[in-house]
Amino acid sequence: MSAQILDGRKVRDLLTRGLVEKFANLSAKTMAIIQVGDRAESTSYIKGKKAFAEKIGVATQHIQLPEDATLEMVLEKIENCNGDPTIRGIIVQLPLPLALDRDIIINAIDPEKDVDALTSERVKGWTEGREDALWPATVRGIKTLLEFYKIDLFGKKVVIIGRSMLVGKPLAAMCISENATVTVCHSKTADLARETLDADIVISAAGKQNLIGKEQVSPGQIVIDVGINTVEGEKLDDEIADRKLVGDVDFEEVSKIVAMITPVPGGVGPMTVLGLFQNLLDLCES
Ligand code: NAP
Repeated sequence: MSAQILDGRKVRDLLTRGLVEKFANLSAKTMAIIQVGDRAESTSYIKGKKAFAEKIGVATQHIQLPEDATLEMVLEKIENCNGDPTIRGIIVQLPLPLALDRDIIINAIDPEKDVDALTSERVKGWTEGREDALWPATVRGIKTLLEFYKIDLFGKKVVIIGRSMLVGKPLAAMCISENATVTVCHSKTADLARETLDADIVISAAGKQNLIGKEQVSPGQIVIDVGINTVEGEKLDDEIADRKLVGDVDFEEVSKIVAMITPVPGGVGPMTVLGLFQNLLDLCES
């Protein structure tokens, strides 16, 4: 391996102390997490968020509803959280059961408590690249990671794989607002390698193991692996998963070629949790 590791766990740990100090000065700072159903992956992500919250002195309220909860039941919980002055951030854990309307549910969250930045008002903020935009947690985490390693997006060619509202689109908006030239790829992209090979930075958020291999990358590139895929094998990470995790990037092969790379686990994942609580702090202080 020749690539430098962009170590999300190290950066998160270094920045945690600052969060602890700032939250210590706040009285109302509870984060509510609403979970519908009991998907194992969602439960383990929530476990990770709760553990980090405890570490930095933030209270969490985990509200669990059954898989067959009605829209009204979910909206009632959100309304209760909106009206509770001690709760400063609300997360509705995604994905929701198919029977529920995600847009109605997300937009029921008071934008002032929308820590995931997914309500229409927050989306408008980040699509317009406003100065005070709150970025979704993964995007904020990646932005912080790049800043920590002094990777300037200005004038860079960035190729993003994935166009979801949760990751791909806000990531593209963030990179554009930092003056990068951005290409967004997706499952209908005709030739992925043609797009990625001459990029300065490749960010993969597809959720497909081995999507980015040695054929897709070039020397000198920076590769950010957002993907989380669970595979058979011994689990290495006790923070977020009950199963072994890999990203979208063939780490072993790609790290021999490129200049910098994030590992999975230990790259974007820890930065996402940090980003979430940085968002909560911004909401508490605003
Ligand atoms: P998503 O909603 O399923 O979106 C996946 C995107 O990848 C879609 O735009 C899809 O294209 C594209 N895609 C899928 N297969 C592709 C292929 N073969 N070639 C090119 N593009 C392809 O997922 P998401 O919520 O954005 O999350 C993406 C990944 O990041 C998942 O693995 C998720 O677990 C992970 N994630 C990690 C973190 C973290 O903290 N590390 C946080 C959030 C998400 P179409 O639009 O054409 O379908």
